[in-house]
Amino acid sequence: MPHALATPPAKSPHALPSFLDPEHLGPWGIYLQQVDRVTPYLGSLSRWVETLKRPKRMLIVDVPIELDNGTMAHFEGYRVQHNTSRGPGKGGVRFHQDVTLSEVMALSAWMSVKNAAVSLPFGGAKGGIRVDPKTLSRGELERLTRRYTSEIGIIIGPNKDIPAPDVNTNEQIMAWMMDTYSMNEGATASGVVTGKPIALGGSLGRREATGRGVFTVGQEAAQHIGLDIGRAKIAVQGFGNVGGIAAKLFAQAGATLVAVQDHGGTIYQASGLDVPALLRHVSEHGSVKGFAPAETLPDDRFWGVDCDILIPAALEQQITAANAHQIQARMVIEGANGPTTPEADDILHERGILVVPDVIANAGGVTVSYFEWVQDFSSFFWSEDDINLRLVRIMREAFAAIWQVADEHRVSLRTATFIVACSRILQARELRGLYP
Ligand code: NAD
Repeated sequence: MPHALATPPAKSPHALPSFLDPEHLGPWGIYLQQVDRVTPYLGSLSRWVETLKRPKRMLIVDVPIELDNGTMAHFEGYRVQHNTSRGPGKGGVRFHQDVTLSEVMALSAWMSVKNAAVSLPFGGAKGGIRVDPKTLSRGELERLTRRYTSEIGIIIGPNKDIPAPDVNTNEQIMAWMMDTYSMNEGATASGVVTGKPIALGGSLGRREATGRGVFTVGQEAAQHIGLDIGRAKIAVQGFGNVGGIAAKLFAQAGATLVAVQDHGGTIYQASGLDVPALLRHVSEHGSVKGFAPAETLPDDRFWGVDCDILIPAALEQQITAANAHQIQARMVIEGANGPTTPEADDILHERGILVVPDVIANAGGVTVSYFEWVQDFSSFFWSEDDINLRLVRIMREAFAAIWQVADEHRVSLRTATFIVACSRILQARELRGLYP
């Protein structure tokens, strides 16, 4: 089963490799453009900016497994450590048929920015396997996860790089990763991954943390623009861990969930969808499709629905120049990583729509992952109330600092988050210096 690399080789020995080239489209190209936008604000630290444009370490691995029918299959896996100036690499592992090196590079870089934005003592990393896990049996999925973990075992570890769940990976996959790494080390190493089951040193509140963070920054941003959450209409793309939990918390605060889109289709109900019933429907049927009494909309009508808050919580590059003009919301909260292209960002900015960027909006998950890592090291576990209180405090403080920088420099929240985060990363880089 061959899987071609997404990035062709550079044209000449003097040209930048295509994945380092800002003109190269795709998530990594978008990230490079974002860095270029903040460089003028970095002062003397800008002499180190190239550090942000070059991932520190990238590993591409072949992951062979035996299928249940006795044949062999090969999958391509990646682990990218974008930056470790502020601490060990940290970031999720994605299993998806469209995963590419460019995507994993961008996701790892956004982790560096995100971890610095909320002041966690981590660098940024990300991993993935180019596979549609829905086509594998449970046994095949376990063999794939274990072989991948063994292959990347040379660069991960509790003090080096700590994976976590992302799209299509979950607590069970983290348990297999922890076990595989531990067996290879000869000792249980709970802190090698986060997002584990509670029984294996996972943290209370981790499963809900990203959605809770989306809700918390949503509340803060709403206050700034005078939007009453209790009367707000919400539309959510992606009804998995992030979108589902965020929708639940907004609905509990009185908001009306009017539209949801997932991989199966788009549903709409002006009077408000019953969120607990929709969560049950998705856990039984795997998608929002067919949820009664909601009406089904053609997928391209999702972006234009009448709402106050739009939450993309599925995949990258969903809000583009083609649909940004249709958006009715006053505010977009990016639950997903990289859901808005730079062109769409500009359109939303010109139209006066506030965008709360991924690098702060979805930082709740990694914040509680940090709590999990700390708890694993001390083997002392906190209550869920303690965790939620600390999470909300960190998110609020980070958001307030970013809002202030946006105000001061008259820039978007995305640029402000990058200014805060990139300054922290490059300050650490400068203090550490180069060795050897
Ligand atoms: P998930 O697998 O739990 O859910 C993904 C959702 O996206 C599902 O509802 C799926 O149906 C939907 N989806 C997939 N393809 C789609 C398509 N083409 N159109 C519309 N919907 C589609 O994943 P998740 O953990 O909720 O992650 C969602 C996003 O949030 C990703 O960008 C991820 O990187 C980001 N994120 C997740 C976490 C976390 O803690 N889980 C933390 C930070 C960021």
